[in-house]
Amino acid sequence: MQDYMVRASANDDTIRAFAVTSKVLTEDARVRHNLSPICTAALGRAMSAALMMGYMMKNDKDLLTLVFSGDGPMGGLTVTSNNKGEVKGFVNNPDVYLKDKFAGHLNVGEAMGHGTLRVMKDTGLKTPYSGTVALQTGEIADDLTYYFAASEQVPSAVGLGVLINKDMFVDYAGGFIIQVMPEADEDTVTKIEKNIKSLPPVTTQLASGCSPEDIIRNVLAGLRVEIHDSRLCSFHCDCSKEKVKNAIMMLNVSDIDEMTKGGEPIETVCQFCGKKYVFSAEEIRQSLYQKVGNGE
Ligand code: ZN
Repeated sequence: MQDYMVRASANDDTIRAFAVTSKVLTEDARVRHNLSPICTAALGRAMSAALMMGYMMKNDKDLLTLVFSGDGPMGGLTVTSNNKGEVKGFVNNPDVYLKDKFAGHLNVGEAMGHGTLRVMKDTGLKTPYSGTVALQTGEIADDLTYYFAASEQVPSAVGLGVLINKDMFVDYAGGFIIQVMPEADEDTVTKIEKNIKSLPPVTTQLASGCSPEDIIRNVLAGLRVEIHDSRLCSFHCDCSKEKVKNAIMMLNVSDIDEMTKGGEPIETVCQFCGKKYVFSAEEIRQSLYQKVGNGE
């Protein structure tokens, strides 16, 4: 099955809902970054959330970035998404192994530790939106729930999950975000809370054959649900040789000089997707002469 997400609403748009299945792109990220199971779970959960949050944005060029920083062994993670169903991300320390919190439950919270979640939205304005909150548990979903309430004043329910099999492949990944608009009545909110309490985790629902549409209908059972549209999702990085070279050229002239004077090729890896780029020393020095020549 292909990864995709859906957007829905309920009870005359007083409830907004999103759900995603993200197994393929989470497995893609695992392979690209050689992630341990705990890091796969953390990044997969964050990518699922970022996809749905990107879906909430209006324009093609809008970008959403989540930066989790923690004092645990994983150190944190960064994900960036847009409203086209594209997401990329990396974990600071990808090879963290910890004992399970309880049977079958990866201890993402301990791997993350205490720290902050920073949410940035670049919608083309001079100053991008940025909101920072303290991590609640480091388990990703709890932290985003808190962020929506504290920073955006939108009461929300966030469910995220990644199920990894014994061969360390991703079996199921996905999630949902339910948002309560100010016009929603208390009855509706109580129903949703009850539904969520009685439902199994997202990955269990996915494993039993539920689609993102089914997950939304499960969580919003008893409400008048309207599914609006859907979007395919994938791991996508927009890096290029040109962009990587420009980034090298942002370094100090003396550093670039030092790096290239031995004549050895310069190798660099895109942090987001793991793609390797190689430049000859001559190529970089030529760009350096141009940079210096321009009086920069
Ligand atoms: Zn890349």
